[in-house]
Parts: sequence; C-alpha cells; structure tokens
Amino acid sequence: MKEVREECGIVGIYLKNPEKNRQKLPTLLYLALKELQHRGQESAGISTLNLHDTNYERKLKVLKKVGRVDDLFKPLFKPKLSEETKEFIKNYQGKAGIGHVRYATAGSPTDYYHRLEEAQPFLRRHGRAVKRFAIAFNGNLANYDILEDQMKQEGYDLETHVDTEIIMHLLSLELNKKMIVDNLGKKQKPNMFEVSEEVMKKLDGAYNVISLFADGDLISWRDPFGLRPLVWGENSEMFGIASESVALTKIGIENFFPVEPGSCMIFNSKGLESKVLFPGHKKAHCNFELVYFARADSVIEGVSVNKVRENLGKELAKTDPLRDYIQKNKELCVVVPVPDTAISAAEGYAEEANIRWTMAIKKNEASRGFINKPEDRARIMHQKYSIIEEKIKNKIAIIIEDSIYRGETTKIIVEKIKKAGAKEVHIRSTQPQIRHPCFYGIDSPTYEELIAAKFEEKEAPEKIAQYCGADSIFFLSIENHAKSIGIGSENICRACLTGTYPTLHGNRLAEKARKNVPERTRTSDPTVSAKDVTKNDEI
Ligand code: SF4
Repeated sequence: MKEVREECGIVGIYLKNPEKNRQKLPTLLYLALKELQHRGQESAGISTLNLHDTNYERKLKVLKKVGRVDDLFKPLFKPKLSEETKEFIKNYQGKAGIGHVRYATAGSPTDYYHRLEEAQPFLRRHGRAVKRFAIAFNGNLANYDILEDQMKQEGYDLETHVDTEIIMHLLSLELNKKMIVDNLGKKQKPNMFEVSEEVMKKLDGAYNVISLFADGDLISWRDPFGLRPLVWGENSEMFGIASESVALTKIGIENFFPVEPGSCMIFNSKGLESKVLFPGHKKAHCNFELVYFARADSVIEGVSVNKVRENLGKELAKTDPLRDYIQKNKELCVVVPVPDTAISAAEGYAEEANIRWTMAIKKNEASRGFINKPEDRARIMHQKYSIIEEKIKNKIAIIIEDSIYRGETTKIIVEKIKKAGAKEVHIRSTQPQIRHPCFYGIDSPTYEELIAAKFEEKEAPEKIAQYCGADSIFFLSIENHAKSIGIGSENICRACLTGTYPTLHGNRLAEKARKNVPERTRTSDPTVSAKDVTKNDEI
C-alpha cells in the first residue's frame, strides 16, 4: 500500500523524583520519541519544564526542528560527554516534558516542510504560570473550518492552519473564563477537569492532546471516541503517556493501559488524577492503526498489533476464494508480504494455508521524497521496491498487502513480480475495500483517487485486478476483518470502509466530498524559504 501516511505521535513524561533524575529527562524524551518516528518524519519537537531555572521564560521551553528525532537530539550523540551535550542536557533537563513527531495531515508536505512554525509543541506565552503552557496534538478536527471561522470572527489572527493553534486558543479562553477569584481578589487556577470538558465539547473528530503547564501540571485529553491510540503507564521513577506502547516500554514502563476515551488525565507532583468526562460514550477506535499504522510490537486498546495482523492473514487464507486451487498447487505457491506492515499477516496466511512465505520484495529505505505530483509518487514507488528474483521465478505468488488505496503501488509491485518471472500473481488485502476518505487524521486520498470507489463493490476486485495486471485480487470482508481485530465491531471506526462516520462533522465533510465541494485549503505560506527553517528553533 504505502500510499497514505501516518499522522503524528505524542509523548509525555512526568518524573516522580525530579531531584534525582532531572538530567535524564532529555534522554528519556529522545528514546520515547524515537520509537514513534514512524508516525511522523517531517518535524520533531519537545517542551520541558524545569522549575529550578531562575529565568521565568526558560522554566518552560520548547525546542523543535524540521526533520527527524535524531536531528532534534543531535547534541546528545557526541562521542564523549562533550560540552555541547552537557549544555543540551542542562537546557532541557527538568521534572516533566512532552514531545511530538509530525507528519502534516493537511496541505502539501512541501508547504509544511517549509514551516517550522507549524512544528509542535506550540507554546502559549503568558506572564502567569497557570496560563503559560506548551501543547502537542495528534489527530484531525473535522470541525476545524467552523472553529477557524468562529475564531476569525472573534478577531483572532491565526498564524497557522494547524488544529493545535485553535485548541491552544480555546484552552486559553476557557482558562480565563473559569479563573477563580479568591478572598483577596486574586485569580486562582480553575478546576482543570471543568476547563478541559468545556474545550472538548467544542471539538469534533480525532484528538489526543498533551499540554505542559509552567505551574507543573501535565494534562492529557483523549477524544470521546478514542479514535487515535493513547496509552499511559508508570514505574517507580515516572509516569508516561504516548501514542503507542513501544514508546513507554523503551523507557522502562512495562505496565501500561489504554487511556480511557473522553478522559482528562492530570499528572503533577501530587501524582495522577483522572476523570472520564464523557462516560458511556460510544467508542470508535481507528481500525487502520491496528492494520497498518502502528508498529507491530505495539499494544493498542489492550490487543497486540502483531496478533491482530496474524489473525487478519489467517482469516484471509480461510476465506480465500482460490483456497482449493492454492492447496492443489501448494508446491508452486509462495506467500510474499509487501514490507513491512504486511509481514505479520503473511505469516498468518502462510501458517493457515500451510505454504512457505518469503521476503521476496525488498524495501529500499533510501528512496524517500516528497510527493507533489502523481509522477513523483510513481517514481518513488518504483524506486522503493525491488524483487529478489530467485525467490519468485516460476512461482505462483500470493502477495499479502495491508490495504489498497489508489492501486498505484500494487500495480507497480505486480509489474515487478511478473518481470521477475512469477507464473501468476494473486493479491490479498487484509483491509476490506477502502471506498471512503478519512477525516480523522489520516492523509487519505479523495473519492476520485480511491480505486475501489471507482467501481461497484461487487465488481471492484476484478476491475482492480485488471488495472494492476494481477491474476486475482481478494479483499477480506468487513465482517471477517472486524472478527480478526477482536475488540468488537461496535468499538471500531470503519468509516473509510462503510461511509458511516462516527462524528457529526465527519459525516458533514463526507457529504461535501460526495458532492465534490472542494475542501478548504489548509496549506501554509510556501514563500517561506528553506533556509529560514534549517536551524533549531528554541522558544
Ligand atoms: Fe481510521 Fe478509516 Fe476511521 Fe479514518 S475513517 S479513523 S482511517 S478507520
């Protein structure tokens, strides 16, 4: 597949014993964020809180960079503990920190690449610590356009087209509104659960938000549907919260749990306080996280991503319409995953069908690049995959894909496999037909671009096989797909398969898309030059 990209990844760390461990914070943030690199490669950023810093402005600070996690933390990798490393640790040590990796889900990647301003976390400056905070976000607001209009009408001069900026302003507004005036007439921090609930009520869509306040609170929100994954955990040294469990296990947090959808969690020196603000709310976890986006060694909503993918592969083998033909020609058949995310599913298929599987497709990691034109995509995809001929020659190749969006990648892979001498090529997709776009933080194609949406559902497999030059294509059914995921069909979002979106504004955007009403452009100002953003930006 590889025709859509991950959204963002977030992490938060709160040290229980900062006096002892303060200097470890930058390294912990690095290790955790690096595990989320697959969720965004365009920019990385952190914010740390050091209450010992005598300079008010520097107590809560942000560092972000266009590039990868290693680029952001470069000073940590000097051969010895150099002056630069010591300086970096001194600058970013503290009791708590948050981090973000970003892939822009709106606008063209090139525009975003040129905008360091849109990298996260964002910093809300304020002279009072209760109102000064850094904020990072993962997801996509389906009512962004409406909130943006409202803010502009209220006189806000928005600097970016990023949901995070809107949420930051809404949070500031609500903090102001709910400030408590004490007996001496002094303003005191309001109840943050009440503040959070008011802001969350205004948001529609997928959102995981982490904010770090200059007064010492680290606060997280997860949307009531739980669309994007979020886990939290603790050990004797720290609390951690992250998009995926791999980030927590990397820093030594082995006990972790899914964050309850619709909840607000407050970590501070008193420990953890948590409240579900929307109890009994319907859940809609993005199924695609389990099928494709998340790392195979992650645990999401309490289930192993690897196990889910193996189950999907097994189910594909059980329900394969060519099962008898494949069994008769077993000696000639070979199961081949499209790397890397379909590997677990290929293992599952091979085990169920009792056929050998092999890594005949090699992914070339060096072939990165921005896709600005359809030709770019084809070129990059061509460079991205190569075939090990001897593994495939004269074989019946059963290619396991996690999903098919535009069909372009599948077409290229089929061409390459046939050229390598395969007798037959059969494509098997663990994701059912993707017939609708996503408005919840996945950079998915439009109705016009989705290959399955071009055909009636029944005829789509045959038509797509013709387009790709494959001998057959088979998609797992929606029912068997849900069964393999194993968290209950009523708890997963399948809007891109069924066209029924869990939120009001998701359905509104789909309706507009079906009528071909153009989406509001959320690209950034492309006139900002690359040289403006090539250095670290510390705020
Ligand atoms: Fe995930 Fe599809 Fe729902 Fe988007 S529409 S959140 S990709 S399941």
